[in-house]
Amino acid sequence: MFRPVILLATALSLPIAIAHAQPARLAASYEKSVKKINDAHVRKPGKNSEDDLEKKDAGTRKRALDALLRSKLSPPRIDALVRCGEAALDLDLIADFKRIRKALLKGAPDQASKLGSAHSHKRFLLHGIGGLDEEYLAAFAEVFAAILEGYDEVFGFREWSKVPGKKLRVRIHLEEKITRPPHFAPQYPYHSEIDFPVIDAKRLYSPTRTGKFLFYGLCHELGHVIAMWGHRRLEEDHHAWAHYTGVVLVDHVTGKHAGKAWRKELRDQRWRSLDKERTKHAKTKASLDDRSGVMKLLIELHDLVGPRAIGAAINWLDKKDRRLRINHVRYYTFKELRQSFEKTLKDRKRLAGVKKLLPG
Ligand SMILES: [Zn+2]
Repeated sequence: MFRPVILLATALSLPIAIAHAQPARLAASYEKSVKKINDAHVRKPGKNSEDDLEKKDAGTRKRALDALLRSKLSPPRIDALVRCGEAALDLDLIADFKRIRKALLKGAPDQASKLGSAHSHKRFLLHGIGGLDEEYLAAFAEVFAAILEGYDEVFGFREWSKVPGKKLRVRIHLEEKITRPPHFAPQYPYHSEIDFPVIDAKRLYSPTRTGKFLFYGLCHELGHVIAMWGHRRLEEDHHAWAHYTGVVLVDHVTGKHAGKAWRKELRDQRWRSLDKERTKHAKTKASLDDRSGVMKLLIELHDLVGPRAIGAAINWLDKKDRRLRINHVRYYTFKELRQSFEKTLKDRKRLAGVKKLLPG
């Protein structure tokens, strides 16, 4: 008599417990799979690209996601899907992300909009928050790809993400008013990310009516992604490096894509260009003392050796990979840059000029 009673009780309570525990367990299994792959990659990136990584352990994630999407959306199931959607972005699992977003749009639109939209490109992943749709992200991607291609053509930097093989991320969020400018967010463990506020969900144009230079801002932030200077307590370039690469890129992209419709929306060059900086710093003396001095130094370096040679010097330091890294972010010094020019610059006369500009 005793045993059947227990069995009956267990049989009754179990399905209810499963209904609540299972979505959370499935989300945890999905997140764990993504984390395991990213942790292993950070420890030993090798030659793996993000496309290679996303094939690993795919079965575990598919099982979890299929199970979550199989039945009707309940609050625990919605929470679990949002967790999976966020984890999917850490591994560029765009197909999973889209499946999740589609299901949420149907059954939980508020949660779908909280999760946001995404666009995956072979070099980067865009995450749109606050009501930016896929169409907006596709237009943004065209501009961002043109800027990256511009960097390839002008400087030829090889290593973009602080973790080799991982795509760059841009987190684009729609705001009523831009209170914080775009910034490089170095804290993410697995990739380099730019935080980018916008104010118009329909069009990407710059400058904004209140004078925010979004186009220059993107070019500028990529300068930070490529190189930070000094160390934790010393910004050796006084914030001039990203300004320098930013204006050089505004010039290049503006000139190269003159005929494109999207380019007509980006008019920053009138206010942000290398020529403007030349005029502004005509009487400045090149130095490492302040922002003006470093800007002048970079302009003189640019004119002396050309941006390609600057890119080659940075690439040489990356290949050696002995300079400082903080949270995987690469930090350089102007002394190291000079040492790199000594190895990479063949022209003796130009090298003598570099030695006058950069500290020994
Ligand atoms: Zn900056």
